[in-house]
Amino acid sequence: MNSTTSEVPTAPIPLSRKPSERGSPDAPASGKTACIRTFGCQMNVHDSDRIRRMIQDAGYAEVQRYEDADLVILNTCYVRENAVDRVKGHLGELNRLRREGRVKRVALTGCIGAAEESQSLQETYNIDLVLGTHNTYELAEFVGLPTMRETYTPELPGTEGEHSAFVTIMTGCNYQCSYCIVPTVRGRMTCRPMESVVGEIERLVAGGTRYVTLLGQTVDAWRYEGKRFCDLLEAVSEVAPRVWFTTSHPSNMEDRTLRAIGERDTIVKRLHLPVQSGSDRMLKVMHRGYKADRYRRKISVFREAAPEGTLSTDIIVGHPGETEEDHQQTLQLVEDCEFDSAYIFKFSPRRGTEAADLPGVVPDAVVQRRFLEVLRGIEHSAFRRNQRKVGNIEEIFVRHGATEDGKTIGETWSGHAVHVDTDAAPGTYVTATIESAGPHVLYARIRN
Ligand code: SAM
Ligand code: SF4
Repeated sequence: MNSTTSEVPTAPIPLSRKPSERGSPDAPASGKTACIRTFGCQMNVHDSDRIRRMIQDAGYAEVQRYEDADLVILNTCYVRENAVDRVKGHLGELNRLRREGRVKRVALTGCIGAAEESQSLQETYNIDLVLGTHNTYELAEFVGLPTMRETYTPELPGTEGEHSAFVTIMTGCNYQCSYCIVPTVRGRMTCRPMESVVGEIERLVAGGTRYVTLLGQTVDAWRYEGKRFCDLLEAVSEVAPRVWFTTSHPSNMEDRTLRAIGERDTIVKRLHLPVQSGSDRMLKVMHRGYKADRYRRKISVFREAAPEGTLSTDIIVGHPGETEEDHQQTLQLVEDCEFDSAYIFKFSPRRGTEAADLPGVVPDAVVQRRFLEVLRGIEHSAFRRNQRKVGNIEEIFVRHGATEDGKTIGETWSGHAVHVDTDAAPGTYVTATIESAGPHVLYARIRN
């Protein structure tokens, strides 16, 4: 299993170099420096890539420490309260550094910037610029570039020439899940034209990208001029050497797409399909638009299409009104679907969402117990499924260069995260034998 946490979700395997590892290490002639901190999901990491290009274009060198930065940009997440608390901690520290004259300007971007709360944060912490998710391009003016609305919209690539790249295919979300702030801070769904996506990927591949991740809040809801997500995925799988996509919504997931995952060689056999709950009653309260058995049926299509593939999900425990019976149904679904990993979240009330005002708040101790029970269920199936890989010889895509202990992180075509003893460069493939497996990761040795 890759991550089971009540924290902000991160990619099950980091999808490209960490943002803090990118950027020019040398100070440019202008001597200006900027530090970018990213909180939250892949969408935010991708937005930070765009921000990074802006500040580089404006002549800033990227630095890693606040103390070394003229400008600090916090690109933020608003999905759960603990994400906001973390950002407040950073803002407090930045305020202190600014009083001491060690940081000049602070900008807050991303989902918190789009929320109402950002006004009070701006006053409390003396933030110079607050931008939401729709007007990030205004940062260009702030850093001394001409207005760049056209240049820095989602139409443009954020990561270029990397061995792995994110490509946004849609922004926003048309669902109204009871608990979720995303539609408020990211707006309604906008889909990018197919030619624009495929054109970008062709350019990325020509520039050396070996792995493309299609991104969006509900990627499988993508539609454009009569084309549906599966058409786009098939087109991308023709031009990209390796492709994956996230996040999908069960109501939009077509059997055709699930079968394409199994059939197309260049698509990683890994599906992230958030279920949130195994109780039909809770799914209705959450406005998810499907029942648990429909979800199970989708999973059986996926398992048939890609029997070796990996399946992950998101589950919320302790949504208001969740009873013991509802929780038992979630545990049953976890057992039935045999997930390979999951992000488990304790419900976090977000002001402005329907669930924040619902009765039936679940006591913390009960939420904690349910969290651990779901975690145990996921770890059980993840460990069992990972054990089945032991002894296999697998082709592994190297995602990250060797760490100090000589282990490189890679990914099998089945979507498993693997530690492997190689110094092969990121973006290349190695062949290795899976020697052991834990619930979170496989361990492999290079074949001689
Ligand atoms: N669009 C995706 C979907 O519907 O599956 C997920 C987007 S959201 C950024 C990622 C996950 O955060 C959700 O799937 C949900 O499990 C979790 N989440 C969102 N709002 C939450 C809240 N208020 N409390 C706890 N978890 C939440
Ligand atoms: Fe939030 Fe639901 Fe949209 Fe996902 S589908 S982003 S959980 S509103």
